[in-house]
Amino acid sequence: MASTLLFPPLLAAVLGACVGSFLNVVAWRLPRQESLIHPGSHCPRCGTGLRWRENVPVLGWLLVGGRCRHCGASIAVRYPLVELLTAGLWVAACLARPTAMGSAAEPLLLVLAGWLLLSWLVPLTLIDLDSLWLPESLCRLGLLLGLACTAGIGLLQGTAIAAALLFQHLLAAGVGLVGFETMSALAERLMGRPALGLGDAKLAALLGAWLGLTGLGLAVALAVLSGAVIGLAGRLSGRLGPGQPFPFGPFLASGGAAVWLLGNGFWLSRLVPQI
Ligand SMILES: [Zn+2]
Repeated sequence: MASTLLFPPLLAAVLGACVGSFLNVVAWRLPRQESLIHPGSHCPRCGTGLRWRENVPVLGWLLVGGRCRHCGASIAVRYPLVELLTAGLWVAACLARPTAMGSAAEPLLLVLAGWLLLSWLVPLTLIDLDSLWLPESLCRLGLLLGLACTAGIGLLQGTAIAAALLFQHLLAAGVGLVGFETMSALAERLMGRPALGLGDAKLAALLGAWLGLTGLGLAVALAVLSGAVIGLAGRLSGRLGPGQPFPFGPFLASGGAAVWLLGNGFWLSRLVPQI
């Protein structure tokens, strides 16, 4: 496989873990409107800066035993887990067979585009989990990057293919936005309270820009299925109260990642009843 030769899994994992470390910073600082660069990583309780070796993804956390060396505040296990998750996603992107960008897409560009998309979805997921909010700036920029990647990867396959891909992905972004906004308005009318956040519409638009119409449809189907299963499990186990809101963004993001990694055909053959 050409793309795995270009990026040996170990290299992809190390790069992914480093990016995951930065995505932790984004997910923490963006909702607090703090700079993503200054100051460097520090303990949120006492402000002590991290030494360079404590900044090493996963290992740094293990090195300090999950505690700040100065004040002993525990450092959430989520940090190394997000680094591991991003490392895994970056390796998966090298092995992926995405179908959203045309059948003759350049494998190297698909790997790079996959890294970008999957990395973008991580902080969106974390911020929605933390605060039931999907920052509009991240959604909008992610959407534009999706269209830019579609145009760029499409152009290398010919102008006609680029135009067709871009049209389809623009349409999908629009359908995602308007479709979710309509559903949200309907649900609010039926239930008498906000049921679907408007952030979900923006995330759906982002996914449309990257995945096209079929890919968006599959990602939404996967999100609804997995959301229903987790929601039901939450209710049955008593962890989720009646009517208690839970974020839908993580399900949409996971659905989108699954469609990118495995391609439309894989999910179509599993989700659509075969005649
Ligand atoms: Zn501290």
